Amino acid sequence: MSERGEKRTAVVTGGGSGIGKAIGERLAADGHQVAILDLNPDGSTFFGRKADVTDPEQVGAALDAVRAELGPVTILVNAAGLDGVSRFDKLGFEAWKRVIDVNLNGVYHCIQAALPDMVAAGWGRIVNISSSSAHSGQPYMTHYVAAKSAVNGLTKALALELGPRGITVNAVPPGFVDTPMLRKAEADGLIGGTVEDHIKRTPVRRVGLPSDIAAACSFLISEDAGYITGQILGVNGGRNT
Ligand code: NAP
Repeated sequence: MSERGEKRTAVVTGGGSGIGKAIGERLAADGHQVAILDLNPDGSTFFGRKADVTDPEQVGAALDAVRAELGPVTILVNAAGLDGVSRFDKLGFEAWKRVIDVNLNGVYHCIQAALPDMVAAGWGRIVNISSSSAHSGQPYMTHYVAAKSAVNGLTKALALELGPRGITVNAVPPGFVDTPMLRKAEADGLIGGTVEDHIKRTPVRRVGLPSDIAAACSFLISEDAGYITGQILGVNGGRNT
């Protein structure tokens, strides 16, 4: 038994960087066996498999490797993500499709690949990392906001479907978390000022940390959260209420 319940096998997509990396570390500290699926899993100390979440064959092969090494996958955190910025009238269909593919279709592929293990176990936890921009909207990010809003919708619908099989499905939409994704957007002049400027407008007066998101995931995955499903748990310092 871990501190937060039985020891399980958890897959974290996007676990090579930022929020996903912190989630992997937190779930390991909670006593779970952690595996990472990422385009670049090499920096991780956990069992890692290189996979593009948009490719169902790569995802399937990676999940098979995790099962063979660590056993059935009953925890899945979908944290792999790709942002993008473009005026809508300049946004080409290929760029639109890639952002939808990574942020939405990737979630579909990973859940499909892990679900049989959860159904067989009669227990499962799925946490989808969406985005606070799905609440607030975000100019020049229509594709990203559309994909993340769809992830919230998928979360609610799938929770109703999987509840009777002992599987919870929740989403954590982060807002303004200090990761390579945020710092790149700041350096590219895409966040409307600096991170410091945004801190002044954030009710709790600090930037979010990857560990803040990881703490929410840890709770939603715990036995204590077994009656919580289909929820969108904002972790954003009060920026979206
Ligand atoms: P990050 O540091 O860029 O991490 C994202 C990870 O996902 C990277 O390791 C990336 O690999 C991986 N990845 C990207 N495309 C992938 C693909 N097709 N297949 C497999 N892995 C892929 O970003 P982050 O800030 O931690 O973001 C984590 C999640 O939180 C994302 O879903 C993001 O949309 C969401 N989010 C973040 C914030 C924020 O403020 N940071 C706010 C709202 C939502 P590479 O580095 O090799 O590309």
